[in-house]
Amino acid sequence: MKTHRTILIKLPKDKCDVDYIRRLMALANLAYRGFEVWAPDLPKTIQYQLYGSFKNYMGSLVFGTTPKRWFARAWVPLKTVRVYADSSMKGDKSAPVVLDFESSVIRLRQVCRDELGYSIEVQMPKWVVERVREGGDVKYAMIGLRDDEPYLALVAEREVEPYQPSGYILAIDINSWSHGIAWGLLRSGRIVSFKQEGLNPQRIVSLYNQAVKREKKVGRLKRLGLEDTLNAKRAGRLVRRLRSRAYRLIRAEAVFLARKLTKKALRYKAMVVIDDVDWESLRELLTRKYGGKVGKLLLSGLKRFVKLLVTQLQWYGVPYEFRRLYSKKCPRCGHKLTQQKGRTMVCENCGFKAPRDEVPIYWALKAMPGASAGLT
Ligand SMILES: [Zn+2]
Repeated sequence: MKTHRTILIKLPKDKCDVDYIRRLMALANLAYRGFEVWAPDLPKTIQYQLYGSFKNYMGSLVFGTTPKRWFARAWVPLKTVRVYADSSMKGDKSAPVVLDFESSVIRLRQVCRDELGYSIEVQMPKWVVERVREGGDVKYAMIGLRDDEPYLALVAEREVEPYQPSGYILAIDINSWSHGIAWGLLRSGRIVSFKQEGLNPQRIVSLYNQAVKREKKVGRLKRLGLEDTLNAKRAGRLVRRLRSRAYRLIRAEAVFLARKLTKKALRYKAMVVIDDVDWESLRELLTRKYGGKVGKLLLSGLKRFVKLLVTQLQWYGVPYEFRRLYSKKCPRCGHKLTQQKGRTMVCENCGFKAPRDEVPIYWALKAMPGASAGLT
């Protein structure tokens, strides 16, 4: 099974001509549709590379599908050449993206400025070295703009087969950030360990509210015609800073948890069962609790977590599946559970009893035949 992981590398704006990249993206859009348009004022070399990339890569789904709209910006697929520490080389010698492991730099030729022979160097991220060490190969790269900032995307590819699970199940319940992500390690129908961890949503809410307050202030100053004053500028800067801090917190938490749980699964050679979340009802829950905007922010963090988790499980060959993990339904007989004091859930039909937060983890036992012995 081929698996992929991607990294985005921000490129220096002063060395990368945003307008040039925008033009390349427009040509890429046309190329997706099967048109070869030779722009007379662009270097021939880069255009050869562009259409060559399409011929080579269209069979690969790495680059996704044809952009939906005409002239929508499409990221530009680029070939790479890898030069390893022992001086061996893989890929097309004239490729515009050179991954030089010898001197730990990435060289970009002809993709950053419309100028013959123009090339820039960026530092090789540790991420690339790690993926290669794990047996991956960075065959694909893309260049493009996000929020008008130039980025290079590198796609690592690796051939891997999922391992045979050892009898452990790692169940991951995606609740909401307020109860954290709950995970349980199960073996022979028993919970070996259980933990809830995650973001403190109150911190996000507070950051967000501070941003809103500052935003209102900026609005007031603007209405008074004072948007150019030092005061207004400072408040505007603060709004942006608070917002991005909230995003960063959520993002960092998602990255941290995905990594941690992948490592745990690998250590126990566990089969991973991920809660098949009903995103719509989770969105409603978060909106009710925190309001629309913060709810949306938190939801996007949870979605990102699941995506990161799946990408990493695939990359390391961890077997996994999605299952609905209920918290109010008996995992033994399917009867509705009643809540008792101290968040204990009890089944009046069969006598099943467990702390409320652990009920979804028991549901994961059904994923493995034989492992559900403790339940029946
Ligand atoms: Zn029951």
